[in-house]
Amino acid sequence: MLEKVLIANRGEIALRVLRACKQLGIKTVAVHSTADKDLMHVHLADESVCIGPASPTESYLNTPAIIAAMEVTHANAVHPGYGFLSENADFAEQVENSGFTFIGPTAETIRMMGDKVSAIQMMIDAGVPTVPGSNGPLDHDDSRTLKIAREIGFPVIIKAAAGGGGRGMRVVHDEDELLKAVHVTQTEAKTFFGSGIVYLEKFLENPRHVEIQVIGDGKGNALCLGDRDCSLQRRHQKVIEEAPAPGIPQHVRDEVAATCIRACEKMKYRGAGTLEFLYQDERFYFIEMNTRVQVEHPVTEQITGIDIVKEQLLIAGGASLSYQQSDVQIKGHSIECRINAEDPVSFLPSPGNIKMFHAPGGLGVRVDSHIYSGYTVPPHYDSLIAKLICTGDTREQALKRMEIALDEMLISGIKSNINLHKDLIRDPGFQKGGVNIHYLENKLKL
Ligand code: ADP
Repeated sequence: MLEKVLIANRGEIALRVLRACKQLGIKTVAVHSTADKDLMHVHLADESVCIGPASPTESYLNTPAIIAAMEVTHANAVHPGYGFLSENADFAEQVENSGFTFIGPTAETIRMMGDKVSAIQMMIDAGVPTVPGSNGPLDHDDSRTLKIAREIGFPVIIKAAAGGGGRGMRVVHDEDELLKAVHVTQTEAKTFFGSGIVYLEKFLENPRHVEIQVIGDGKGNALCLGDRDCSLQRRHQKVIEEAPAPGIPQHVRDEVAATCIRACEKMKYRGAGTLEFLYQDERFYFIEMNTRVQVEHPVTEQITGIDIVKEQLLIAGGASLSYQQSDVQIKGHSIECRINAEDPVSFLPSPGNIKMFHAPGGLGVRVDSHIYSGYTVPPHYDSLIAKLICTGDTREQALKRMEIALDEMLISGIKSNINLHKDLIRDPGFQKGGVNIHYLENKLKL
């Protein structure tokens, strides 16, 4: 069992991790930048250490400062949250080499999944359905590249193996554009990600984004906690997520879940993870795996009753899985709205002082947020200030609760996207369920 955990993150996820630690009686250390001394979890943690200035590279991404803070406070493990160092294999390795526990998979697993080409190859070996494509790097043999693209059929997408955050991708509609696009993407990938390796896959025109939550014990056992639909996105940023994904035939769901479990067992996956898929015409296509807790994990917690962060902590402490697959029962429906400090029209960040914050409540309403009246949102970080999660026995009930909760939620002093959410929750297309990944951007263009 872990005794003291250092939380190497900020905002709502740092508070989320702190709560899980308290559940287990684990002591907590908050690390923060100079801009974040007033964060809620900093006040609530047993100890806190300032690790640097506001700039993330000098604080939340500063490995030596974080490891020094672990030494000074005698923490024995670090929880990286999401973003920042959470999928940085070098960080995980340095933590473990310094004699501490990294709460997450091994550095080797993070590295393998961080390279999309090796991730796809691993998934193919485990029988996980992937997007038809080159299934490996494109080389300098242009005639081979052309042959692969012709076989798959246009449009295709060229992707950087080391890409992330929606960058390093290029869609190609016909043969004439192909080779130039490959070369440009290779050059860009080399500049941005340090590796010029690119691969090619079929470009799906109207897919949904559906992902599968897994947990592994690092010893070859794994559980699937069901799926989530995160298709409502703007510029590859998720805006609303829900679980389970609406309208997917049960046998299709079960089949893909079984392949995800097999993949995790095969790689002896340790901790929480998410396999992201595109879903079109009742078929799943793997695109990548995230080796950390996701922003949208609460919707899964709400319908399974399983505390995912608590499981992460238990597994990192060496425990076996607390559940068997037959214990995982999906009950009801849950929806999450990401509340951002941003201008509702331009979508530009809107940092500043929150004069007043009123959180909604009631049965089936959960608010994961670090903000409070008087709190100042700093301009240096992500604009997510709250996650509003509403759950019901049915999707209709969850939607209704969300409508009411959004009307109750008040944030003054800064701008937020609450009104966008009010509009989206009442949108007839979204209410019907199963919209594709272009739906939100098309709607915003109108
Ligand atoms: P990143 O790691 O940058 O997030 P992903 O591989 O997860 O990259 O892809 C990001 C997004 O790009 C997907 O959510 C989807 O919207 C789009 N995308 C990626 N691959 C394809 C594809 N084969 N067909 C259609 N859209 C795709």
